[in-house]
Amino acid sequence: MFELPEMVTLARQFNQTLRGKVIRKGSLGNSPHKFVWYNRSHAEFEQLTERKIIGTTQARGRWMMTAIEPGYMLVLGECGGKVLFHPSQQTLPAKYHLLLEFTDGSYLTGMTQMWGAFELYEAGLELERQYIKDMRPTPIDAEFTFEYFSNLIDELNAGAKRSAKALLTQEQSIPGLGNAIAQDILFQAGLHPRHPLTGLNPVERQELYRAIQETVQAVIEKGGRYDEVDLYNQTGGYIRTMDSKSAGKPCPVCATSIEKMQYLGGACYFCPRCQE
Ligand SMILES: [Zn+2]
Repeated sequence: MFELPEMVTLARQFNQTLRGKVIRKGSLGNSPHKFVWYNRSHAEFEQLTERKIIGTTQARGRWMMTAIEPGYMLVLGECGGKVLFHPSQQTLPAKYHLLLEFTDGSYLTGMTQMWGAFELYEAGLELERQYIKDMRPTPIDAEFTFEYFSNLIDELNAGAKRSAKALLTQEQSIPGLGNAIAQDILFQAGLHPRHPLTGLNPVERQELYRAIQETVQAVIEKGGRYDEVDLYNQTGGYIRTMDSKSAGKPCPVCATSIEKMQYLGGACYFCPRCQE
């Protein structure tokens, strides 16, 4: 699944490579299934995108919005897989969930791995979409200050009991983070995935805030994680400290064997000594 850094990378590359291109034909692909979320019929999508121009793209959490000018917004979200630019038809995949053919003979394809949204809105209405409407600040937004973060923890602590991992991966409390990046954030913060959110003292809150900011920036600077590809089908340069390859290997800080556990909808990798 693409998380915030992968979406930021894709958005930057859309702006470099796709902005200004004219759509000859837009298609919702040849491989639909019920986990691909569309809001238009094939005919509608083709008609509404014809001769439109690619405008600016922006990432927001695990969502990305591309202006289709005039008047529309292409929304990709909650997806993984591949979103690829093709200079010519030679590299087009056999199956895809989205295809934009441009007048200069180049193409964009999107193929989501599990689920994901490929939707087209009248510009402005995308902000009313579930998950985009009322989205909380993401870690790269100016509003995501330590004060905001600490208040968010207080707000969540007033409700049901949660863990540190739940804060990072559940309910879009911090939009854009997911199970992959959460592992390294918790390691950097020295927090066990099950560490209760109510038990975070001010110093631990600072450490966690810093770990979120630094890890997100590090992944963005490296162009995403090594197990995802960008618009040009290149893998990202960020190698995770805590992932399936690190289980059973020595912790880079204390050499204790890294453990794996299933918790909250995904595997966790952590150092039982460094993370309490
Ligand atoms: Zn350790």
